[in-house]
Amino acid sequence: MERARPTTSRRRFLKGAALAAVPYALLPDTRAGAQTQAVDYPGAEWQPASTSNYTVSNRPTSYPLDYVVIHVTQETYPDALSIFQNPAKQVSIHYLVRSADGHVAQCVREKDIAWHAGNWDYNTRSIGIEHEGWVDQPAYFTDALYEQSARLTAAICTKYGLPKDRAHIIGHYEVPGTDHTDPGPNWDWTRYIRLVNFA
Ligand SMILES: [Zn+2]
Repeated sequence: MERARPTTSRRRFLKGAALAAVPYALLPDTRAGAQTQAVDYPGAEWQPASTSNYTVSNRPTSYPLDYVVIHVTQETYPDALSIFQNPAKQVSIHYLVRSADGHVAQCVREKDIAWHAGNWDYNTRSIGIEHEGWVDQPAYFTDALYEQSARLTAAICTKYGLPKDRAHIIGHYEVPGTDHTDPGPNWDWTRYIRLVNFA
């Protein structure tokens, strides 16, 4: 009795596994397809900006991608998402990173032109990343925020062949013609670039 039971249960298990394999084989494919259409960065949460707040394009065919532009929101994470979703605001971003846990939201597809740099030429050639926080409140720049943002920037640089350096990963304040100061003096560029290169 006792010796026969493992054989029986194993046979039943295998039968069950064979049947269960059919729906499981179909599910991940369906999900992966939907996810691929929505986000460009695996793990990002799709939080679409209003279609009134960005320009549909076909980058990098329509424009080359030369920069990642680093921003700080001067808003909370949920308030920033609301702004990008509000068609009256005329502003958007590709990615928004949450302070507390480094969670990444994608609001505009990488192929499309987000309105974030205040300079059309730079908008066409860049991907923008907003970070929840304020330039004068360094506590918002958590380890999780630095690490998850650096991982995202590294993936973008690798994808589009951008060198992982300060000539290509720039602050909003470095965009010609801007009066914005973000990410501000509390942003640790040395640490960030190091993280991007070791991500
Ligand atoms: Zn900015």
